Amino acid sequence: MWTESVDLHCHSWHSDGLHSPTEMAERAFQSGVKVWSLTDHDTDTGWQEASNACEKLGMRFIPGVEITCEVELQSSTKNPSSWHLLAYFPEGASQEFSDWLLSLKDARVPRMKLMLQALAEMGHEIPLEDVEKFAEDSLGRPHLARAMVEHGIVESVSEAFEKWIGNDGPAFRERPLPTVSEAVKMVHQSGGLTSLAHPYYYGIELDVLVPTLLRLGVDCIEAVHNSHPDSYRWKLMQQGFPVTVGGDSHGTENRPSPGKICVPIKQLHPCFHP
Ligand SMILES: [Zn+2]
Ligand SMILES: [Zn+2]
Repeated sequence: MWTESVDLHCHSWHSDGLHSPTEMAERAFQSGVKVWSLTDHDTDTGWQEASNACEKLGMRFIPGVEITCEVELQSSTKNPSSWHLLAYFPEGASQEFSDWLLSLKDARVPRMKLMLQALAEMGHEIPLEDVEKFAEDSLGRPHLARAMVEHGIVESVSEAFEKWIGNDGPAFRERPLPTVSEAVKMVHQSGGLTSLAHPYYYGIELDVLVPTLLRLGVDCIEAVHNSHPDSYRWKLMQQGFPVTVGGDSHGTENRPSPGKICVPIKQLHPCFHP
């Protein structure tokens, strides 16, 4: 039996999505979703609204977060700046977990200040407020790039990354990220479970990736991600891990709504069964 009524990966304007949690919940509902998770990057600030919206719609809400972690294994084919770990709390999360997320966010401001300082030293002064006004939450490089466009330093967000703040750029500064193992530990301690988001992005062969995930204590694998080719989804489903399913909708044109993504119920972790 397959289902299309589960989507466990979605973003709102609490991170880099375009719409409110309510809007995304309604879009999920319209697409026939019955079990839905909002997984904004490194923040839980959208949960309350999402949960209220789901209650009205009669949809089951799973509080989730997509945690930005350090790269665990270096790839010879890809160069990701981080690994993404999805965390889910079917029974709700602890205060301790929320506090931990906040502590991660606090690390972002000092890092942004370092990048602004680097830009200033190269003749481009931008006040922190001019970056912050683009960020609903979780201040990051995309917001800085928009401020750079506004200040006329570059013409586009992509130019900002190419010339200045990409991973090899002169104004790039590392931010301290949690390791996958640290994040897994915190999620487990807070009563949740984890899934490695879109493994395709990391460029690691499965015979290396799978033992690593086992060692790290990751509970599931996001085999069915929007960007994965069918053949890769299928391979991931054969690894003995429970799987999760994620449309990764940001409310943008290419994928405006959660849902309409197929997963075999037998493979799906039991916590998420419709
Ligand atoms: Zn991601
Ligand atoms: Zn995502």
